[in-house]
Amino acid sequence: MKVTITKSDFDKILVHARKEAPLEACGLIAGSDHDGIREIQKVYLLTNVDHTSEHFSLDPKEQLSAVLDMRKSGLKPLGNWHSHPASPSRSSQEDIRLAFDHTASYLILSLMDDAHPVLHSFHVENGVSEQEELVIVE
Ligand SMILES: [Zn+2]
Repeated sequence: MKVTITKSDFDKILVHARKEAPLEACGLIAGSDHDGIREIQKVYLLTNVDHTSEHFSLDPKEQLSAVLDMRKSGLKPLGNWHSHPASPSRSSQEDIRLAFDHTASYLILSLMDDAHPVLHSFHVENGVSEQEELVIVE
């Protein structure tokens, strides 16, 4: 699966994640899915109700209003994103354990290297996390 995200949505995630650090930041992604390309058209910034630097839980109320907004906007839920303030962009054991949807893309933004934030997308199925192709488009 190839995933695309616009530069401005990438920046939106980055600004929010930097603001929330050292806590993990999180949210949802939505858009369209066709011909093997998953196009992110909107990102949602949600509250990490865990308020920790090691894992995240999406605020259920915000999650509901985001899903309603997706329906209203004709966007498909594509997965979620979260930040790793001090670790690399790869799925932790906890991330894999909590990734229930194998049709979703799981984006992880690493802020470990301040000057070079790294965003990767993962497909998780049967306890295995595989990196997907992620392209940042203008
Ligand atoms: Zn994680």
